[in-house]
Amino acid sequence: MTDGGRLQGFIESFTRLVDQGADEKRIFADGAKLLSELIAHDDWLPEKLARPSPERYQQYLLHCDPRQRFCVVSFVWAPGQTTPVHDHTVWGMVGVMRGAETCEEFAFERPGGPLRAKGSHRLPAGAIDFVSPRVGDIHKVSNALSDRPSVSIHVYGADIGTVSRHVYEPGTGVAKVFVSGYSAPE
Ligand code: FE
Repeated sequence: MTDGGRLQGFIESFTRLVDQGADEKRIFADGAKLLSELIAHDDWLPEKLARPSPERYQQYLLHCDPRQRFCVVSFVWAPGQTTPVHDHTVWGMVGVMRGAETCEEFAFERPGGPLRAKGSHRLPAGAIDFVSPRVGDIHKVSNALSDRPSVSIHVYGADIGTVSRHVYEPGTGVAKVFVSGYSAPE
C-alpha cells in the first residue's frame, strides 16, 4: 500500500465495520486491529497535520464519516503539553504513532463527589488505549517525552470536535461544559 493510501484504506475498512452495525465491544476488538495497522507505519501523516504548536496541544481532523458515526483525529503534543482532565461521552480509541504519552485516569467516587485518580499508565508507540462511559471515560493525557513531540491517532464514535462534553477540576470534580473543536492546519 502506498503511504497516502494507508489512511484511505483505514477509513474504508472502518466504514465497513460501522456499516455492519458493530457495537462498542466489536469496535474495540476489530477496530483496534485496524488502528494498530494504521499506526504501525509512521509514513503517511502529512507534516502539517503532525505539527506541534508552542501554545497548546493540537487536534487535527483527518476524516469525519458523512453520517458522523466516527471520526479520525491526529493529536500532537509538544514537550510538556497536557490535556485538561476531560471526558468524551462516546467511545474512543487512542493509538500512539510517534513518541509516547502518559494517560492518567479518573473516576467519581460517588455521583457529584470528588474525582479520584485511578492511576496512570504510559503508552509507547504502537499502544492503543480505550475510553467510553462504559470502560472509563475521564482522563488526562500528556506527552511523556521532554525532548520531542508525540503524535497519536484517535478514533471516536461521533464528530468529536462538535460534541458537548466536560472538563473537570480534579480536586472537586466540578465540571465545565466544553466543545473542543479542531485545530486549523497552517
Ligand atoms: Fe481524551
